[in-house]
This record gives sequence, structure tokens and C-alpha cells, in this order.
Amino acid sequence: MQNSQIAARRAEAVSRGVGVTTQVYAERAENAEIWDVEGRRYIDFAAGIAVVNTGHRHPQVIAAVRDQIDRFTHTCHQVVPYENYVRLAERLNDLVPGNFKKKTVFVTTGAEAVENAVKIARAATNRSAVIAFTGGFHGRTFMGMTLTGKVQPYKVGFGAMMPDVFHVPFPAELHGTSVEDALSVLEKLFKADVDPSRVAAFIIEPVQGEGGFYEVPKAFMLKLREIADQHGILLIADEVQTGFARTGKLFAMEHFGVVADLTTMAKGLGGGFPIAAVTGRADIMDAPGPGGLGGTYGGNPIGIAAGNAVLDVIESENLCERADRLGARLKQRLQSLRETVPQIVDIRGPGFMNAVEFNVPGSGTPDADFTNKVRVRALEKGLILLTCGVYGNVVRFLAPITIQDEVFAEALDILESVLRDCAKGA
Ligand code: PMP
Repeated sequence: MQNSQIAARRAEAVSRGVGVTTQVYAERAENAEIWDVEGRRYIDFAAGIAVVNTGHRHPQVIAAVRDQIDRFTHTCHQVVPYENYVRLAERLNDLVPGNFKKKTVFVTTGAEAVENAVKIARAATNRSAVIAFTGGFHGRTFMGMTLTGKVQPYKVGFGAMMPDVFHVPFPAELHGTSVEDALSVLEKLFKADVDPSRVAAFIIEPVQGEGGFYEVPKAFMLKLREIADQHGILLIADEVQTGFARTGKLFAMEHFGVVADLTTMAKGLGGGFPIAAVTGRADIMDAPGPGGLGGTYGGNPIGIAAGNAVLDVIESENLCERADRLGARLKQRLQSLRETVPQIVDIRGPGFMNAVEFNVPGSGTPDADFTNKVRVRALEKGLILLTCGVYGNVVRFLAPITIQDEVFAEALDILESVLRDCAKGA
């Protein structure tokens, strides 16, 4: 089978609304490598968008899933529950930052976790407004899409958004928005549009993912917590992309010294199997009445089994420390190319949630064409990269944290040669 043949069939059979960035059709995958249907090997620096932090088919995750499949695959937790759901909830209650009693609900996707966090916040506060940030990404469901701070392509053509959602500029200094600027807009929002006593929650990604890998400045997170406390507003940390060792901590909020009331999780929790969660203060989590939360597949046994195994792997393989080490090597390598590649304006990111941003040399203009060229050339050389950012001028790196040293070294060599070639205009 050829990639091009499947691509042609795909174009006829699948809605164009589902975009794809490569025409590499997967045949099999192992840790940080993917082989396509033509037998070509790729190094995977996308990890299914920050999902297989523990690598493709981690043996411990696969063993746990196999064992689960051999016993039962679905009963619906709301009908006939199972112990490992409770165990994973207990573990997340312990691990999610916050020195207070917590409870958890399991769902299936990141967007669903966001939807549920907002429902829970509304039920607990008896308020309806939610404040999110420009450039943020929170999913493609109606509330997720409304909270998302980027119109193209997420909101185009989808009609009226959910009511009572407001956006404040995300404090990204690199793009001219300081912490003070963002706080001043928030203050004006409270005066012009919404009384803070009507606001149920702030929702924020500790490091913006799709929006461009911008870390929330610590001063801003502290202030947000303070404002939330002052007005009885809940703080939701959307850790769907940042969670599970990616930033060098199990959760990115650990970098800030303040805690969220509710945390949304998905992606890395399942290590390749669909599972998502909301964990938060027990009294808040208990606000919705019985039957108000859940879903047929919410906390399905396979995802739960995978989640428990993923937590074991992160701990036994010290993946938080490994994320720091790999990220340092990647950032160092990119730094060494700054002179040769004048398009580079910023190299950043905690742990192994790293990115490089490109501008037209000598100008402040984002260079989306150069960024895309880097991605395409890397793919030609067998390295799968993802771009992101409101201006499409950021390459983000999301390799499995379990990537073997020699595969990582090979990927860095490919990256370097691609950046050198692209900078030369080759
Ligand atoms: N929140 C964040 C921060 C995300 O990065 C994503 C996915 N990119 C989502 C929510 C939505 O997750 P899902 O695609 O699993 O619905």
C-alpha cells in the first residue's frame, strides 16, 4: 500500500474538517519511532500531540491493557463499577497539586474534561461567567471551542458561541502584552462587561499549548489566584497538554507555587488510550448532583488500566527528571544555532515542553513560511515535527520522554541540518 493511494481515498471518504499535517499513514510504532505503510521509519517528535509521553506501546502500559482486556472491556462505570477506577482517582487526588481533600471524575477526552470542569465550577458557585485567555486552546466541543482564544480554524462557521465567556489577552511579552497589560484589561472587563461576583471561573493553561508554548509568567499566575480568591472565583488549570511529566513536573502548576481549584487532564494520562479527568477540591467536585456527571465511556476500563500503568512508569523511570535533561539538551542545541539561523527569535519551555519561534530576520514579523518549511523538510528527512502559535511561527517539540538517547541524538542532527539548510534558503 502507498501513502498516496490512501491519501486519495481519504480525501473522498473523510470530512475535510478533519485536517492532517502529514500524509504518512502509520503501520506500527515503538517508543519514539513510527513506521509507515511503505516501510519508512520516522522519529516522532509529536507523540500524538503530547499523548505518548511514555512512548508508543510502553511495555508496562500494554501489559496492563492486555490484562484488562482479558478480564472485561466495558461495563459502564455508572452501572457496574470497578476498583481500578477508584484507585486511579485516589492516586490523582494525591498527586494533583493542592494540600486539601480532592475528588475526581473520569471522562474520555480533553474537551470533555474542560466541559465538565466548567459545569462543576458553575454548580459549585451558582455563577455562570467564565474568563479565558486569547491564544488559549480548550477543545472543539461547544464550550471548549468558545473558551478557545483563536478564531481560525476553530470557530469559523460554527455559529453563536456559548454565552457568558470572556477573553483577556494572554500575557506574552514577546508579542507585546505584559503582565500589567493583561491585568489592566481584566480590571476593565470587570468594570465594563461582567461583575466579578458573576464569574464562576478563570480557565488557563499553565503553558499555552496550541497557542504557541508560552509559559504563564509566575507573577501573573500569583495575581490571578489572588483576584480569584478576592471575588470567590474558581481557578481551573487546563493541564491537558502540560500534564504528566512533560514540563519536568508531574503537573505544570507545580512551577508556580499556587494551586488551582480544579485541574483538567487527558492526553499523557492514558499513554495512548482515551482517558481524561477532572480533579479538584472535594466540596467543589461534589457540587453536581448524582447523575449530573459521567457518560457511557467515561473512565472506560482500558483507559483506566493504562492511566494506572502510566503513573507507575513516570515514577519508576523518573520521567520528570528525564524531561528536564532532554529539554536542556534540545534547548542547548538550538542555542548553538542562533547565529547560523537568524530567523530564531526565541527558544523556550520548561522541561521537555520546548519550542523555537521564527521571525523574518531583522524584523518583528512572524515567519510562518519558514516555520512550515522547517516542518516539511524535517518530515522529508524522517523527523515528525509540529508547529503551533497564533501566527503559525513556532515549532514545538513533544517527543516521548522515554526516547532512547541514540534516537534523540539522531533527531537533533536532523533538526540541525534542516535548520541550517532552511536558513541558507536551500
Ligand atoms: N485543552 C488543551 C490545553 C489541549 O491542548 C487540548 C488538545 N490539544 C484540549 C484541551 C482538547 O483535548 P481533546 O483533543 O482530547 O479533546
